[in-house]
Amino acid sequence: MTDGAPLPPRVSIVAPVYRNEPSLRELAERVAAALDADWPDYELLLVDDGSPDHAWEVIQALSGEDHRVKGIRLSRNFGQHPAIAAGFDAARGEKIVLMDADLQDRPEELPRLLSSLRDDIDIVYTIKHDSENSRSDNITSRVFHAVFSRVTRSNVPSGIGTYRAFSRKVLEGLKSYPEYNVLYGPLMFYVGYTSMFIDVPRDDRKHGPSSYSFIRRLSLAVRSLASYTDVPIRMFFSVGLFVLAATILYSVVIVIQYMMFGALLPSGLTLLALLILFVLAMTLMGLGIIGSYVFRVYQEVLRRPRYLVTQTLNM
Ligand code: UDP
Ligand code: MG
Repeated sequence: MTDGAPLPPRVSIVAPVYRNEPSLRELAERVAAALDADWPDYELLLVDDGSPDHAWEVIQALSGEDHRVKGIRLSRNFGQHPAIAAGFDAARGEKIVLMDADLQDRPEELPRLLSSLRDDIDIVYTIKHDSENSRSDNITSRVFHAVFSRVTRSNVPSGIGTYRAFSRKVLEGLKSYPEYNVLYGPLMFYVGYTSMFIDVPRDDRKHGPSSYSFIRRLSLAVRSLASYTDVPIRMFFSVGLFVLAATILYSVVIVIQYMMFGALLPSGLTLLALLILFVLAMTLMGLGIIGSYVFRVYQEVLRRPRYLVTQTLNM
């Protein structure tokens, strides 16, 4: 085939790696088995996101055995999305696939994903049918998708996976967003293009727990909401307006009460304390929301690189 010639491969598969050492060899083998027949001209980009296990050694071994396996090692753990960005920046294929390295996304679906990607379809998303996933993951991601699609008025179906294929045109589109806090899930919906959904079974994790805890997933949800909408800020304004109206109404009531029955203040002390606490809570919440936007602006202004690479293999 290409035989070392610098011709770009037809397909780039990007998989971020963090604590996936036990599944890497099987991943590379199953990808090869799935693609050897119809799509042999591919590159499998394994991005070691500062994985604390011996993932890099495995990637080194695999890339020595098959020149299509390429390794990128980041200088530390940057997180899933910066690792994906590193893979995207290195990907040279006409068609790009994003998948997890933990074998929950079955490599056997690759031909179906790739052949669904045609001239009129730029993105093929997968909707996963869990064989048996952790319940909390399911509920949290379902609630998040419901809130997110409502708030941003996009139609993100629940059960959508990170496993997806798209054209180079889409990749170039994604890469043209220079933001530091990039999250590829929401961004891919944001950029548009024509897309389709296919159903895939999603396997259980074979090795170790998910690298996302409930809290980490929640903070991811908050981050994606904060970067694609100003609804929390606007909501806060409306609630503030409501409290203001209630306060005015209540002062009118107090004045009328005073005129009809005289001073009643001591009995209202509890209410007063409650009101103060309520207003305090609202103020703090508002500061928190505004603070999170200000922090995002600060991070963007710094224009830091999203990731740093220390080593590459077969590149
Ligand atoms: N991942 C990463 N950096 C991190 C955490 C996760 O690159 O700091 C990668 C991980 O290797 C995997 C993908 O992100 O390929 C999804 O992670 P995981 O399978 O733990 O999450 P889940 O599938 O449970 O959402
Ligand atoms: Mg996973």
